[in-house]
Amino acid sequence: MTTIAANLQAVRARIAAACEMAGRSSAELTLLAVSKTWPAMCIREAASAGQRAFGESYVQEAIEKQAELAAMGVTGLEWHFIGPLQSNKTRLVAEHFDWVHSIERLKIAERLSDQRPAQLPPLQVCLQVNISAEESKSGCALREAPTLARAVAALPGLRLRGLMAIPELTDDVDLQRRRFARLRDLRDQLVAGGLPLDVLSMGMSHDLEAAIMEGATLVRVGTAIFGERQITL
Ligand SMILES: *Cc1c(COP(=O)(O)O)cnc(C)c1O
Repeated sequence: MTTIAANLQAVRARIAAACEMAGRSSAELTLLAVSKTWPAMCIREAASAGQRAFGESYVQEAIEKQAELAAMGVTGLEWHFIGPLQSNKTRLVAEHFDWVHSIERLKIAERLSDQRPAQLPPLQVCLQVNISAEESKSGCALREAPTLARAVAALPGLRLRGLMAIPELTDDVDLQRRRFARLRDLRDQLVAGGLPLDVLSMGMSHDLEAAIMEGATLVRVGTAIFGERQITL
């Protein structure tokens, strides 16, 4: 077995153990393999080991790898954009991805909706919310999330599926859980307000257990599958 296949198996086992602790079914969890900075060969290896959903943060890099994989005959993958998104990159994202997790402004959402090609299904999106207040700069503010969510949900080219967050890095598991609980509470509040959100995109290599305990439905895992990244952005 390759290292990537063995790592994937270990991550799936961590997810299963955390689900058991939380009294949840692993069928509720999606594993997103975060392949940013790793070459197409690594994605092919993960795909051969049964991994289908991949997360990328840099538009140009992702599109090049998608083309290489298609040329290698690797098809049927699902592409999630999880990085910061500038206006000048929205068209490429709308054309080349299935999901975007990092919506934090209405203007970006409107551009993605307008630029989504008509022959493709709506782009599946999550709002990125800042659940760590002053510790973080990315994501919309918690108090702005309900207004943004209603506006995004109304856009025809997008389908609002849920919320995403990247809390500050900490080894304090109780703090990790309190942060993730904020995102879950916000989701519950929005669902009570009539938005049918079914996705909580939270948890990474170091904190996926805490995220699953607090209701994550999708964990975004890079390092634990592919190894330490040389470039960190
Ligand atoms: C890089 C990245 C991840 C993966 O982080 P790891 O610590 O390598 O598991 C998850 N989510 C986002 C948004 C990222 O940019």
